[in-house]
Amino acid sequence: MSNRYSDLWKSQKWKQLRRNLFRLQKRVYKAVQAGDLRKARSLQKLIMKSRSAQLLAIRQVTQLNLGKRTAGIDGKSSLTYKDRFEVLKKLVSSAENWTHQGLREIPIAKKNGGTRMLKVPTIQDRAWQCLAKYALEPAHEATFSAFSYGFRTGRCAQDAQRMLFQNLNSSCNGIKKRVIELDIKKCFDRISHSSIMELLLAPAGLKQGIFRCLKAGINPEFPEQGTPQGGVVSPLLANIALNGIEEINPRVRSIRYADDMVIILKPKDNAEKILGKIKDFLNERGMEISEEKTKLTKTTDGFDFLGWNFRVQKNGKFRSVPSEENHRNIRKKIKTVVNSSNYGAEVKAEKLAPIVRGWRNYHKSCDMSGSRNNLWFMRITANRKFRKEKKVNRYKANKLCDKAFPAVGYEQFQHNNVKGTKSPYDGDLVYWSGRNSKLYDNATSEALKKQSHSCGHCGLKFIDEERVHLHHIDGNHDNWKKANLMAVHQSCHQQLHWSQKDT
Ligand SMILES: [Zn+2]
Ligand SMILES: [Zn+2]
Repeated sequence: MSNRYSDLWKSQKWKQLRRNLFRLQKRVYKAVQAGDLRKARSLQKLIMKSRSAQLLAIRQVTQLNLGKRTAGIDGKSSLTYKDRFEVLKKLVSSAENWTHQGLREIPIAKKNGGTRMLKVPTIQDRAWQCLAKYALEPAHEATFSAFSYGFRTGRCAQDAQRMLFQNLNSSCNGIKKRVIELDIKKCFDRISHSSIMELLLAPAGLKQGIFRCLKAGINPEFPEQGTPQGGVVSPLLANIALNGIEEINPRVRSIRYADDMVIILKPKDNAEKILGKIKDFLNERGMEISEEKTKLTKTTDGFDFLGWNFRVQKNGKFRSVPSEENHRNIRKKIKTVVNSSNYGAEVKAEKLAPIVRGWRNYHKSCDMSGSRNNLWFMRITANRKFRKEKKVNRYKANKLCDKAFPAVGYEQFQHNNVKGTKSPYDGDLVYWSGRNSKLYDNATSEALKKQSHSCGHCGLKFIDEERVHLHHIDGNHDNWKKANLMAVHQSCHQQLHWSQKDT
């Protein structure tokens, strides 16, 4: 019996479903851009009712999302193929009149010692939220500020990094500027629901659904690093609430990533006045800034933002390096693997490689020279530890270290940042596929170029936010020859491996 449902699930024409959804989303984006909100709402209704969107939403929350195995209040931590069709039935009958189940609260430890509650919706509520996001996101992307970069499709932290460079390099006199490091209090549970409902671009049924979702306890908030939240639609709602804060001081450049923001002041700008406007904006929405953590800093003193430290040097040159805190975290991660007694040197090298590659890739537009940032000391430590094993001689240890610390080239401010208010929903395939390939590590971006930016499995261009995976065609993850690498969608990657083992 169960086989029947699994076959039925796997035989869905996923590629076509994706196309159907994206076509509708592009039309929503266009309608809002043209100011035709009535048309946008009727298209959003079509998305809520679309079988393609519903199936994709279920797939997203059961197969692709981080935290997909966290159970909700109904105790379900995964859905069988049969369950998935049950959820589909529910979406078909009531997506436009959805009632949200309760949330399961899981206490998690905070960095500073306290605990906070992670509130997790049931999987079927997550599916509805994902569907709602499909309908809401293209509408709001058409209204979002060019200077907001966090939790938005097609944008990343490196765009914000590059924007800082453009505003603080020597040719624009960065040495004379100051920045306000804005800290918005983490009080997203106090964001006024009515202000969100007012801002929401959605048909009545969807609006009602989001209202119930908020009433059930879903907060508009951004996930903290390393803890994927249950609320699929939360970051989008938080972006909707904060949108516009970047431009309330029109002559001042503000750069926002989620709830982090820096405001760049020219010598004569009045910090008090600018901050006053920000406070008013937040107050209207039930939020406030943290007075202790909000700082006014000279660019020559340097400041931290998104894991980087930025500073204008005495000679006027602008410099960006991994921040102290970021560096402490990577050292800790590496040490945990190196000192683990659970596995040998071989496995350690395998586990270290993606950690180091990911870290270097994040920082590839920084100045990574110097022994601190090339992880020289970490490598020595790892090498020493590896050689304590009987079968590992000096030669072998060096080989393992090469594998554990893969090289990623760097060049300061090489990143090409996103153009103005552009969004993937504008359907500009050439622009977006070209840009996406630049965001990945060397091997992936080379594979993307070779495949002219389409997925090696389904052939669609990489335009949505689904992660790109690198598939080793012969199954050997040590074989990094170009002919053995293929860039594929995360979901297509799962399909490729389904033939080998069932997930
Ligand atoms: Zn694909
Ligand atoms: Zn693979």
